[in-house]
Amino acid sequence: MKLLVVGGAGYVGSHTVRLLARAGHQVWVYDNLSQGHRAAVSGESLIVGELADTGLLQQALAELQIDAVLHFAALALVGESMADPARYWINNVAGTLSLLEAMRASGVSRIVFSSTTATYGVPEQMPIVETTRQQPINPYGLTKLVIEQALGDYARSYGFAYAALRYFNAAGADPDGTLGEDHDPETHLIPLVLQVPLGQRDEIAIFGDDYPTLDGTCVRDYVHVNDLARAHLAALERLQPGIGLALNLGSGRGYSVLEVIEACRRVTGHAVPVRFAPRRPGDPPELVADARLARQQLGWQPEYVEIESIVETAWRWHRSHPRGYDD
Ligand code: UDP
Repeated sequence: MKLLVVGGAGYVGSHTVRLLARAGHQVWVYDNLSQGHRAAVSGESLIVGELADTGLLQQALAELQIDAVLHFAALALVGESMADPARYWINNVAGTLSLLEAMRASGVSRIVFSSTTATYGVPEQMPIVETTRQQPINPYGLTKLVIEQALGDYARSYGFAYAALRYFNAAGADPDGTLGEDHDPETHLIPLVLQVPLGQRDEIAIFGDDYPTLDGTCVRDYVHVNDLARAHLAALERLQPGIGLALNLGSGRGYSVLEVIEACRRVTGHAVPVRFAPRRPGDPPELVADARLARQQLGWQPEYVEIESIVETAWRWHRSHPRGYDD
């Protein structure tokens, strides 16, 4: 297939682009490089453009005769979305509508969309199944939820075929050490912890130690970025006109913040001093996936389940790229 990967220069996008190309698809990346990195994509396939630029998107879709779109482009930080929700509504929601309208105008109706566990808010049941009520507790999760709903309408009324993939905590890096996570500012737990053995940080702050979890720190389901990439490839092959799939992508195992830090200690062989800090607003205590539907629908199962194996790949990347892509 000829594929347009919107946000393909970012973290999950770039790993997926590599896998799609290896699977024989023809791939173009559309990215404004606000968060993405030119070095994360091979230059000739990169179109630098804004999500809001419906005309440029339409032109790319038509001229390249694109068969399907994968849409990763989004602002994705809970805290930032609480402080400045307007940016999230404009970029995520208005931006995605611009993309959907460009698709409609050029007759492209297949899309795989990056959704999130943040659409569930503080879930009523654990592990989380896809039918668990979606009640986001921050603007980030809410923008992703309304996009899922827009996709539902586009499927019903315009025959769109979509998959909304609800990521749990994307983590790790391509094991060959050439692609990885590079956010500015970095806010994610594993890359921040690994800054300690890299000598870039003295300690790690743990946001909250009084959650109703086994050790009082938040529990998350960390899923390897290449496992996410494999799910996109599988979802692409299952798209059907008028039908939407919404699937959890997680490993099904929860690790507390303290357990993740301990895994980083073991993998790097380095002490990681910790400091307990107040809870971070917008953080639910526990988020763990029931990912059986993705297994049924896509034949997908994560290859990385142990947190150490995920951290090992992240460590390989960060150790060889201490300043990320350095761009
Ligand atoms: N966290 C932490 N200290 C940090 C960064 C994150 O204790 O410096 C916690 C955070 O509160 C959450 C977990 O680590 O419970 C994962 O956070 P991250 O930002 O990596 O992902 P999120 O769950 O927000 O998508």
